[in-house]
Amino acid sequence: MIRRAALILAVLLTGSVSASDYAPISRPLTVAQVPGEPVYYSLGNTGVPSQANEGNTSNGGFVVTADGVVVYDALGTPSLGWALLEQIRKVTDKPVRYVVVSHYHADHIYGLQAFKDHTGAVVIAQERAAEYRENDETADERADARLRQRQGALSPWVDEHTRIVPPDITFAERVTLTLGGKRFVLLYAGPAHSASDMMMMVEPDGVLFAGDIVQNGRIPHMNSDDVDTGRWLAALKQVEGLKPRFIIPGHGEPSTEAAKAIAFTAGYIADVRRVMKAAVDTWTDFDVAYRAADWSAYDTLPAFTANNRGNAYRIFLELEGANFGDGKKPEP
Ligand SMILES: [Zn+2]
Repeated sequence: MIRRAALILAVLLTGSVSASDYAPISRPLTVAQVPGEPVYYSLGNTGVPSQANEGNTSNGGFVVTADGVVVYDALGTPSLGWALLEQIRKVTDKPVRYVVVSHYHADHIYGLQAFKDHTGAVVIAQERAAEYRENDETADERADARLRQRQGALSPWVDEHTRIVPPDITFAERVTLTLGGKRFVLLYAGPAHSASDMMMMVEPDGVLFAGDIVQNGRIPHMNSDDVDTGRWLAALKQVEGLKPRFIIPGHGEPSTEAAKAIAFTAGYIADVRRVMKAAVDTWTDFDVAYRAADWSAYDTLPAFTANNRGNAYRIFLELEGANFGDGKKPEP
């Protein structure tokens, strides 16, 4: 009831009428177009989800074809998913055919419900996305705990009506969709940042939606059970090999210089691994190694404070495990 009252109040204040069931956002979502291509993207804020950014921290995008629209990622709240749908409607009245999900993490999937509630779109993800709710011990983020956290941190945009929409279709390694004269090549790139990382190459345009494998100019979150930094570096090599003309990362600025964006994430992971490998090899205590390390190349970047220490600790444990031959995380 409070939510409805807030919605009505917002409508009165802004004078705009929305058919949405979702709490209004005060910072409008805008989209930019890839130069010369029918490909659009919204740019998230670079920090972690908060009241200030209203959960808008990831990039989403869509491709318009003669036969319909393909969306990549649905953003971090139902309100943002709805806002993305409104932006699509400003560009085209073609139906939304597919929503492709880069991986099942809260900041990319909570907007799915707007697409489920208001379009006939089929949601596609890599098959390990199914683990998101099934295995509370090892799946990324522990989905239900994350939802409760976001209901607090991102109220009113995430609330008791927010639900996790599962994929309708999954694939294992690679699948190509054709629609309206375009090819959408979906490629599994995990487990790296998460169990279910996948990328989408749009051909013939040469535009790559890279998901969280590439995070341009922002410290990625790597402190999760499913992160495998060795595989992540291998996935970045795979991205490089695709030679995209334009890259849209999961977080951070899109770029015509894909190699540079890829090199940023790869360089960060390699640097943290190098520091922590030296610590593990010399039996140095984690805290001692962490404090002694020089983080000056990264410590002014977005999400450094939130993510860097946890990342370093996760890698420390990963390399320690590899040294003891747990067989889980082979060296790249
Ligand atoms: Zn993300």
